[in-house]
Amino acid sequence: MAKIKYFYNPHKLDFEKVGTSIWTIVLRVFGFLSASAVAGGIMAFVAYSFVDSPKEKVLKRENEQYKQQLKYLNRRVVELNSLLTELEQRDANIYRAIFEADPVDIKIGKSNTEKYRNLEGYENSDELIALNQKVDELATKVQLQSNSFDELNQLAKNKTEFLACIPAIQPISNKDLTRVASGFGYRIHPVFKTHKFHSGIDFTAPQGTPIYATGNGTISFADGGNGYGKHVIINHGFGYSTLYGHMSRVKARPGQKVKRGELIGYVGSTGTSTAPHVHYEVIKGKNKINPINYFFNDLTEEEYQAIRDIASREGQSFD
Ligand SMILES: [Zn+2]
Repeated sequence: MAKIKYFYNPHKLDFEKVGTSIWTIVLRVFGFLSASAVAGGIMAFVAYSFVDSPKEKVLKRENEQYKQQLKYLNRRVVELNSLLTELEQRDANIYRAIFEADPVDIKIGKSNTEKYRNLEGYENSDELIALNQKVDELATKVQLQSNSFDELNQLAKNKTEFLACIPAIQPISNKDLTRVASGFGYRIHPVFKTHKFHSGIDFTAPQGTPIYATGNGTISFADGGNGYGKHVIINHGFGYSTLYGHMSRVKARPGQKVKRGELIGYVGSTGTSTAPHVHYEVIKGKNKINPINYFFNDLTEEEYQAIRDIASREGQSFD
């Protein structure tokens, strides 16, 4: 029940009822509404702060998932990095060592932070930027490593080619060989009887014994003339040539490509020679070098030792 208020009217010396003006009503209504609004606001604030809406719950769950993903990716990047480091070490210490290549310089400068600008301003920005940097570094390393392997591949191809080309066998088959008559070094010349440098090895064999190319190459000379008599020179590339002297018959023509073991002529005694034999030279660059170091393909350890002994013995060459 509403209270009825009275006031004392001194002019009438009596109590009179207090009338409710329209303004009073308006003020009261306004006051009530204001109080309700404030109370509602407080309640809403409390609700929003401590109780999640369904949408917020979903977003929070998603956010949690992203964080887990970030952690997982970080771990994967670390794992991949250590795998790559292992590859780098194998590359530097084994592969590049085999091919005598310089080690790769894998130094990675700090990445340009400008490109991660769009990742700034989020809750996880630091982690995201760090992960992006790691992935970028990883990509650079992989690229460098891949280049290194391409280079090694090329070196391996060259090495195979090199091994096929350099002289690596005797010019005469072991079964046909009478003996190694004279080695590389100072020998008494059979015709001039002087102490002369013998720039090759003499293999004695019966007249007409086949002579073989000792490595892949191109015939650069095949003809007669001078002290070597009928002779063949093969250019093997990589700075190597071989010469086969005193042939009875030449079985090659200039420009012809030959494979190791291919027939190029027959043993004879043409030129300055005293008996049928092949005078064999290995030339590297401008120097005639000891062919004894270039028979490694077809000799056993014992055979190699025997040929070494004979070839190093002092004596007369067949030239
Ligand atoms: Zn000789």
